[in-house]
Amino acid sequence: MDKTINLNVLNTQVNLLDLDFKNIQLFLASIGAKIFTAEQIIQWIYSHNCYDFNKMSNISKKIKKKLHQTSCIKTSNFSEEQISSDGTIKWVTSLNNQKIETVYIPEKKRSTLCISSQIGCSLKCDFCATGKQGFNRNLKVSEIISQILQAKKKLKNTKITNIVFMGMGEPLLNLNNVITALKIILNINGFGLSKRRITLSTAGIAPAIDKLNKIIDINLAISLHAPNNNIRNLIMPINKIYNIESILSAVSRYLKNSNANRNGVTIEYVMLKNINDSIKNAQELAYILKKIPSKINLIPWNSFKNSNFISSTNSNINTFANILRKKGFNTTIRKNRGQDINAACGQLTGNIINYRKNHL
Ligand code: SAH
Repeated sequence: MDKTINLNVLNTQVNLLDLDFKNIQLFLASIGAKIFTAEQIIQWIYSHNCYDFNKMSNISKKIKKKLHQTSCIKTSNFSEEQISSDGTIKWVTSLNNQKIETVYIPEKKRSTLCISSQIGCSLKCDFCATGKQGFNRNLKVSEIISQILQAKKKLKNTKITNIVFMGMGEPLLNLNNVITALKIILNINGFGLSKRRITLSTAGIAPAIDKLNKIIDINLAISLHAPNNNIRNLIMPINKIYNIESILSAVSRYLKNSNANRNGVTIEYVMLKNINDSIKNAQELAYILKKIPSKINLIPWNSFKNSNFISSTNSNINTFANILRKKGFNTTIRKNRGQDINAACGQLTGNIINYRKNHL
């Protein structure tokens, strides 16, 4: 709660969407409200999508006045929408002059919302358009949560069944805000999603995996993308700081405490022609994952402007997958969704100038 108290001292309004529910209670207590008032406000926000204190009919006038003086409920709204021929929807949120993207992916049995955690990304993975764009800043909790609130509003009766942190940015480099957002997503009075329906994808910030391990259990997806450090160093500069061994040992420690990952951690592997897609590479990958319960997700590489990579061919990807399967790994090949609107993995740059856009 320190942050809130400091903000009050500075006479700055607290955005209640930046706080998890324990801190909403503490904040409300600090302005003289009872615990149940905090619960009522949480319900107004998360169950009724009401962000206006005046419309909260069960809150007393006295508390409403104090709320107006000290706080606000401010969402950041979608400004543009694009719909793919496969039903995938991409929304853009403009934050001052910067843009972030949120992608909705409907499937037969589930509908997944892919959310961003940073504006841009600092990791500079060679094969990723977001990485090429550079880093601007971390998203606030309210900006992460707003993506879900806004998507729910847009989708009306369609339920979001899964949330993945696979949009722009490296979620483990915005750890504190991502943890608060995860608490709200998991809380039954928030979005009430089970931990098995939330996935955080990371390039492998090993100490942050250990920190997360102490606080929250959710599905982990590791962007491994290479079967050895030589190849990984070439395509992911972060590997020079956290190499494959350090990441896999942090993952093993996470798995020991995790119920969400009981079918194994997801290993993401982007298929780059002549870089990481040989038969030997598949064998190496199987070898390094021998002791890590894992499901391997092979991702055909999505192209973007000014990049030198070529995606592996389908037949190459199938051969690679079959080697892993023969070695006992549950291996899937990711269907790329929303490519026609640049909403697929690694294509998010906040830039939709070249495409038909609908201003909302
Ligand atoms: N920073 C996080 C989340 C990023 S994006 C991470 O690294 O995991 C989600 C996934 O898309 C990651 O596995 C990322 O490596 C992958 N990806 C990035 N660019 C891609 C591209 N052009 N084609 C296919 N997958 C890509």
